[in-house]
Amino acid sequence: MSNKVIVLGEVRDGALRNVSFEAIGAAKTVAGGGEIVGVLIGDDVQGVAQEMSAYGADRVVTVEHPHLKHYTSDGFGQAFMAVHEQEQPDVIVFGHTAQGKDLSPKIAAKLQSGLVSDVTEIEGEGEDAIFIRPIYSGKAFEKVKINEGPVFFTIRPNNIASPEKDDSRSGDVSSVSADIQNLRSVVKDVVTKATDGVDMSEAKVIVAGGRGVKGPEGFEPLKDLADLLGGAIGASRGACDADYCDYSLQIGQTGKVVTPDLYIAAGISGAIQHLAGMSNSKVIVAINKDPEANIFKVADYGIVGDLFEVVPMMIEEIKKT
Ligand code: FAD
Repeated sequence: MSNKVIVLGEVRDGALRNVSFEAIGAAKTVAGGGEIVGVLIGDDVQGVAQEMSAYGADRVVTVEHPHLKHYTSDGFGQAFMAVHEQEQPDVIVFGHTAQGKDLSPKIAAKLQSGLVSDVTEIEGEGEDAIFIRPIYSGKAFEKVKINEGPVFFTIRPNNIASPEKDDSRSGDVSSVSADIQNLRSVVKDVVTKATDGVDMSEAKVIVAGGRGVKGPEGFEPLKDLADLLGGAIGASRGACDADYCDYSLQIGQTGKVVTPDLYIAAGISGAIQHLAGMSNSKVIVAINKDPEANIFKVADYGIVGDLFEVVPMMIEEIKKT
């Protein structure tokens, strides 16, 4: 049997985040040939509807309202429920982003459905799909099979492949009007810190520094390496606590959870709380002058040495290629 799947696309600064396309990839696996409906919520989202079709949505439904300019769980909850009422899907997919983590339990409670959060892999297809998600801070994986719908899951960014983009694909775009009202809060403006470079949660490469960088200036060679690899900068809590960098860069149990293709940890000891945020990265390279450092237990490649010598050597070698 085929499933009708709705995928919530996430728009930031007028552009769709990659996790939206990965969610379409996940939707294709569970749809079993059924229809995939992209959903876009905001104050002006028509412009990106075609992109959802190009990545494989058969149809796109938009909900636009001035109160939806910035995310609030109240506003987006009302908008999403309006689409849900119209579409009556069998399966719902969100990204496991800050927004998805906030909105999905609210929607699941309203629908009285279960919720499989933070899925990193799907085995099988259609009704037989089995969702795999890390538990105990990534030390084990749980396999979840849903016997009774509706099926609702969120996917961790950077884990599920997005379909190939095909600009010749176009799908029907329609809108649902939602009477967004009784909002308990309205976000008037979002003031973001000026960060240069790539968004850490979607980065394919992360170069992270710990207390071993010794000071804010110790991050400079790491930034050069990250720039060269088209990656983002991250940090341990040790580095953040020591005021070497901003807390927005913290990776770990009480920071961000990331799964890039390549994670380079420089001057990070590998405390369990740090590993919780990065140990599922595809390839881990650790640079530490202590051969006994815990980080080497999860590293695919370990370099025992002084990061202030090793990182410039890496930069030099990469520049040669
Ligand atoms: P350190 O442990 O001080 O390690 C520095 C490392 O740098 C050492 O291994 C040293 O050998 C190496 N080094 C020094 N100089 C050089 C050099 N020149 N070249 C190469 N290597 C060098 N931590 C997180 O990261 N993320 C979290 O989310 C997090 N959440 C926490 C939550 C709780 C409730 C608690 C209690 C702790 C949490 N921590 C978290 C803190 C964690 O326990 C560690 O204290 C922290 O990760 C240590 O940071 P670090 O590895 O940078 O520093």
